[in-house]
Amino acid sequence: MKVSASVRAVQVPEDNPMNPECTTIYIVGKEQVLTIDSGYAIDRYRWFLKGYLAAAEQAEIAMAAITHHHYDHSGNLKWAVQELDADVLVSKDAVPLLKGRLPRNRVERLEPGKPLKLEGGPTVHVLKTPGHSVDSLCYYIEEEGVLFTGDTMLGSTTTTVHNLGDYRRSLEQLLELPNLKVICPGHGPLVHDPRERLQTYIEHRNMRERQILEVLQRKGLTTSWDIMLELYPDIDTRLRRAADNNVRSHLTELAEQGRIKVHEGVPKKKRGPSQRAVEHARERERVIKRAKRYEEQARRAEVRAQENPPADEWKDPPRYELQGSARD
Ligand SMILES: [Zn+2]
Repeated sequence: MKVSASVRAVQVPEDNPMNPECTTIYIVGKEQVLTIDSGYAIDRYRWFLKGYLAAAEQAEIAMAAITHHHYDHSGNLKWAVQELDADVLVSKDAVPLLKGRLPRNRVERLEPGKPLKLEGGPTVHVLKTPGHSVDSLCYYIEEEGVLFTGDTMLGSTTTTVHNLGDYRRSLEQLLELPNLKVICPGHGPLVHDPRERLQTYIEHRNMRERQILEVLQRKGLTTSWDIMLELYPDIDTRLRRAADNNVRSHLTELAEQGRIKVHEGVPKKKRGPSQRAVEHARERERVIKRAKRYEEQARRAEVRAQENPPADEWKDPPRYELQGSARD
């Protein structure tokens, strides 16, 4: 899908309730081509992107960048090198968080504040926008007014926040961008009224904070979970922990500001898992590995089979012979 003169979106449908609608890989530039975010490390993403590249693109991917380290954005970085022959660009903050997900070589450092100039394409500004995660980045093409937000701003829902103070400052920073026309989020549809939406996000956070303070006033001493249940009575139960995390990030900020007092909790002593549970987990892993190997072998065999004639269908295949001359 075309977004602007130099931006295309590959929207992969989702079934995870944390990521409504779709997870998107963006493609930027014509000669030297950059991808922003890479999807999870599951085949669907690989084939969606490959299919899109084969059907709609003449160019090859030169560089793969991500908005932050979370798995649904970085899972496929390894095959960006192996299969697309791209260089991987990551920030200093993301490196320690990407354990096991970075390829062995062709990893280059991305510096927030230092723009990426794509050959024969636009300049992409790299903005440091922590809040959703410590390493969150946004990318901005000012000449086209296109902003890539990853999970800092989503297409149709509010996001989860790791550090609320940082998050607010990041939103304010985005609101200052000149010529902003469209937001390309990591999940969900494009946002065509970016300023209004950023403003709404900021107001939404302010409203949550007021609600939390009200609950605290009404209930006295209470837990984040109970506050969450008051604030989100109808939430999909699978999203309760994410909502609780949001409440807690507000509480942390309020505590830092000295507006609330924290009565420290007492953590449970962690008991190690039983020997049987360990065995069970190991066996499970072995079975999953084996199943994956079979699946991969079957896939390869199917691809290989395309190279040769269908010998299992014919003892002797039909043959064709010209009647008269080829010029008739
Ligand atoms: Zn994320």
